[in-house]
Amino acid sequence: MYNKFISQLEGSSSVELMLKAEQMRKAGKKVISLAGGEPDFDTPRRIVSKAIESLNNGETHYAVGKGILPLREKIAEKLQKENGILCTSENIIVTPGGKYGVYLAVASLLNVGDEAIVFTPAWVSYCPIIRACGGVPVVSHLQYEDNYKIKEENVIPYITPKTKALIINYPNNPTGKILSEEEAELLRDIAEKYNLYIVSDEIYEKVVFDGKKNISIGSYRSIADKVITVNGFSKCAAMTGWRIGYTAASKEVTDVMYNLYVHTITGISPFVQRASLEVFQCEEEIEEMRTIYESRRNYFTDALDELNGVECRRPEGAFYAWVRFNNARDSKEACRNLLDQHGIIGVDGQSYGEIEHPCVRFSFASNMEVLKEAIEQLKMGQ
Ligand code: PLP
Repeated sequence: MYNKFISQLEGSSSVELMLKAEQMRKAGKKVISLAGGEPDFDTPRRIVSKAIESLNNGETHYAVGKGILPLREKIAEKLQKENGILCTSENIIVTPGGKYGVYLAVASLLNVGDEAIVFTPAWVSYCPIIRACGGVPVVSHLQYEDNYKIKEENVIPYITPKTKALIINYPNNPTGKILSEEEAELLRDIAEKYNLYIVSDEIYEKVVFDGKKNISIGSYRSIADKVITVNGFSKCAAMTGWRIGYTAASKEVTDVMYNLYVHTITGISPFVQRASLEVFQCEEEIEEMRTIYESRRNYFTDALDELNGVECRRPEGAFYAWVRFNNARDSKEACRNLLDQHGIIGVDGQSYGEIEHPCVRFSFASNMEVLKEAIEQLKMGQ
């Protein structure tokens, strides 16, 4: 028999929908795909040039270890300065994408049967990653009516003697919420009291709007040793295809994670790491992309909210519109209608654990023309 944890994992609905859109296009059908979770921008030129330079310099061998030292130093410096997380290069592991960072953290924390609390709506991969590690995802569903705020009652009743960790993700995919100080302090106090780890996925950190800033929970000194911060360059620097991210954790947790890393990854491609150093010189490019996301958000979410039977709040971060279609019975039906009647692909809310409301996630990491076309299509059916 195959591994019982892995053979039963569900697929990723957003990846499946991206593939579906591609197939439909190849078959000559016109589709507006707003399913994917990746920037439509190309990686800034200077990052690409660094990779080419590195390759030309012969950096094509194994880069054994947690990551090249200059990159880990830069990451640690950034985390200290921008996020208030006390760390040095010793606390950093460079990973193949943020996704592997989450996996590394979860695999290193959980024993078989240990529980990890996931707040839904949540990114589609947390529960499968926990299950793949033999852990048990315990889902705490946040309320649409509360704008998905985390309250004590969303955490305490879900804690059992087997609870090892909480997984949080802010700015949030799919809801676009960022962590408020009140929520962060609540989670801090609970983690401290119940001796829990927190895996904090901050991959959308740079995509925030209205001058807001996300709080890094690893900045609280009282729980700093219990937090594994996961971040990366995929979303902020439009580097999804490069597969690079990182973790920041205590020396002890980092050593445990490295035990797994060294036998599964060895090290990240040296030219990818060298190019990633350039991300820290790309503040302007990153800000330019952020500004464009913000103007798309303003246009797209407001236009959606004006449609009859459609409700869309303005997200505070990430690049997703979380849209409630009041005329559909559930989110699967909403998605079917969108595709059949308007040729639009979004991801159903059920995939993120929202079963009470007919919500659909649309990505606005697509250019303005595509977003306008989607709105025109939707208006036609009104
Ligand atoms: N975390 C969240 C919340 C995401 O939405 C994604 C990608 O969609 C990732 C992590 C994965 O990031 P990466 O491409 O760096 O593996």
